[in-house]
Amino acid sequence: MALTETVPAAPAHEGILRRQSLRESAARTYARSLPIVPVRARGLTIEGADGRRYLDCLSGAGTLALGHNHPVVLEAIRTVLDSGAPLHVLDLATPVKDAFTTELFATLPGELAEKGRIQFCGPAGTDAVEAAFKLVRTATGRDGLMAFSGAYHGMTSEALAASGGAQHTSVARLPYPYDYRCPFGTGGDRGAELAARWTQNLLDDHKSGVPRPAGMILEPVQGEGGVIPAPDGWLRRMREITAARQIPLIVDEVQTGVGRTGAFWAVDHSGIVPDVIVLSKAIGGSLPLAVIVYRGELDAWQPGAHAGTFRGNQLAMAAGAATLAYVRANGLDRRAGELGARMLARLTALAAAHDCIGDVRGRGLMLGVELVDRDADADATGARPAAPELAAAVRDACLDRGLIVELGGRHSAVVRLLPPLTITDEQADAILDRLADAITAAVRTTPGPMGSSPTTLRGTTP
Ligand code: PMP
Repeated sequence: MALTETVPAAPAHEGILRRQSLRESAARTYARSLPIVPVRARGLTIEGADGRRYLDCLSGAGTLALGHNHPVVLEAIRTVLDSGAPLHVLDLATPVKDAFTTELFATLPGELAEKGRIQFCGPAGTDAVEAAFKLVRTATGRDGLMAFSGAYHGMTSEALAASGGAQHTSVARLPYPYDYRCPFGTGGDRGAELAARWTQNLLDDHKSGVPRPAGMILEPVQGEGGVIPAPDGWLRRMREITAARQIPLIVDEVQTGVGRTGAFWAVDHSGIVPDVIVLSKAIGGSLPLAVIVYRGELDAWQPGAHAGTFRGNQLAMAAGAATLAYVRANGLDRRAGELGARMLARLTALAAAHDCIGDVRGRGLMLGVELVDRDADADATGARPAAPELAAAVRDACLDRGLIVELGGRHSAVVRLLPPLTITDEQADAILDRLADAITAAVRTTPGPMGSSPTTLRGTTP
């Protein structure tokens, strides 16, 4: 059943897509799986050049806390444009930047709000990650880094080296507490505790082969890695372990920040205060902006240590300040927590009805559905092999039904939902209805990896 509203196709649509595939790089990404040409957008909805409308649960890879073109964001941008303020100012002080910094600091945890220092970086999350590494290397005089399996920190070389897809790296890799595919085969609190012990042991064993690093970087919820929330207790352990050994803890909140997980910053759930917090995506209110905020004691780098031409995006600062203020004033972090919990409960019911869903998980409005091979044997913890082909079929079936989702996870088998924090209960239901329908359709048409017949339904879809 096509749920998408359709109006006559604009002739430009096909031509634009064709020219894109002829002219753009083989490395293009979302454009491959989402062959749409957005021309208008508001809130959760995108309209394509062909007149079709979509519910956008990709939200600019988790950027759009307030959805597309929120009135307060547009107003903030127009105010700057109409004021005659310069749009390019390098890293000079401006009233717009001052207001953004004040708003941002008002939201940050404890010491960072009171005594933190901010570095405006080049306009991508990955540049802020590079800055964080440079900062802690200078401050500690050490070189190595610790990062986690499955992590994603960006595409520049150092950020990539700290990510799960790294090929050649000197970054020491630590186990992340992934409950469904627990590296220790136990899952739960025990798995997280063993992961913490492994980390501690690497640092304390003089023959571990891992010298004391300049810093440890982690995501409180791994996003691209497959929507894997770290338990609060494990995060507190990481904070204790690093603090006791004078290792700066860098928390990458590029994707989890600004209310997404049900707290303003994901670290607020556990109460930890990182030494460095890396921020981008939602802080720019849909425009490019990236910063790090860190403890003042680390501020030992030299002027120009992390320069860049585009570190003063006035429109992004205005849009970002408006977004931060709106999320704060309207308690959208709390709303994300409550609505996310209800959506997760519905996803759990969906998993009970489909044996191709191995796991559903998430925090706030950062949700994931891991698709698995129902024919394969489960391992000791009950996990079955990932089913990337089925996941791709679900994503395509979602698009057919007017729902934009992307895949993540180790094998691209996790369907990810990152809707704006502003969605209504009815919109949340519409998203889940379309997803449930898409899963049912995809399992009917996608044979299992062993060539088996399509998956059976265990019950009725919720
Ligand atoms: N860190 C995390 C946690 C991310 O999710 C991303 C982007 N998905 C990045 C860093 C890199 O951000 P950017 O794509 O803006 O470089």
